[in-house]
Amino acid sequence: MTYQILAEEGRAKRAHMETVHGIIETPVFMNVGTVAAIKGAVSTDDLKEIGTQVELSNTYHLHVRPGDGIRSGDQLIKEFGGLHRFMNWDRPILTDSGGFQVFSLAGLRKIREEGVTFHSHIDGRKIFMGPEESMMIQSNLGSTIAMAFDECPPSLADHEYMEKSVARTTRWLARCQEAMRKLNGQEDCVNRHQLLFGINQGGISEEIRIRHADEIREMDCDGYAVGGLAVGETAEQMYHILDVTVPKLPREKPVYLMGVGTPANILEGVERGVDFFDCVYPSRNGRHGHVYTNQGKRNLFNKQYELDPRPIEEGCGCPACRFYSRAYIRHLLKAGEMLGMRLCVLHNLYFYNTMMYEIRSAIENGCFAEYKKKKLEGMEAKG
Ligand SMILES: [Zn+2]
Repeated sequence: MTYQILAEEGRAKRAHMETVHGIIETPVFMNVGTVAAIKGAVSTDDLKEIGTQVELSNTYHLHVRPGDGIRSGDQLIKEFGGLHRFMNWDRPILTDSGGFQVFSLAGLRKIREEGVTFHSHIDGRKIFMGPEESMMIQSNLGSTIAMAFDECPPSLADHEYMEKSVARTTRWLARCQEAMRKLNGQEDCVNRHQLLFGINQGGISEEIRIRHADEIREMDCDGYAVGGLAVGETAEQMYHILDVTVPKLPREKPVYLMGVGTPANILEGVERGVDFFDCVYPSRNGRHGHVYTNQGKRNLFNKQYELDPRPIEEGCGCPACRFYSRAYIRHLLKAGEMLGMRLCVLHNLYFYNTMMYEIRSAIENGCFAEYKKKKLEGMEAKG
């Protein structure tokens, strides 16, 4: 893996990262395909057409499904030759560690030093996951970038709990590194060049965040994520944590802000030195007929679009806007037709991917601050 900063403006960076599955130009928005598919009937061919660079899949979801009762889902995918082959995607994939889902989705859990015992949200069966298990699952999937297994404590957890939790996350990171080193050395490993990103935690405590960042930067990960944000704190609190944390992470390595966010959140993150983003908003909003434009968000269910012959956004080059009117897409959405959702999801992901392209160009041309101001002003206007 090589990571090279091509241009900078303030703390914002425009970089080029080479991986075994191809190049990632950052800042980048990863398109979230929880169970190895983007919700809204979007295929991997579609992803290429709308400019997707990195697909993000979910370790926890792929572990519990498509298992067959004998094998877990990830074992089945390994037998198939890995996730890239399974889903027909030859570009980079990032897998999350499962930590976030274990702490947010799974039922009744018990956290110990070894890991977490919880119940599957599919069939209720008991599952144990610790750093070694998470690394094994991600190795079976053969993703380009694996994420460390961490505890994602509620951002408003009390100080004492947060300190204990973060200390455990650091010990878990060391175990993840050791496990991955062994797995990458095995002969039948799907991707022997799998990379590992460590995760900074600490809620909204400046002190814990900084101390944790100092600790994990010494551990020489391939990249670093800031986790546990966008989970209930205000946007200002999130920006403040980025202001104090990102400068503590190595500048010459990629930085990933997990689960974020709105176009405005992304612009603020880029300004603070973030490279990678992911979020379910564009696909989730698209499935509900909410579409992003440079003049703000539109709800295509609104009656005002009933006879509107214009595309979702004039001038947009996405597969929805090139061929279909607001009136037709509104009709599809109201009739519950899958195509309506699909077109809105394609438009929204294209909007995000295009914004990232514009951000990269703006940093290269030294006009990111100006771009950000204009973009925000446009989106805040009523469309
Ligand atoms: Zn469009």
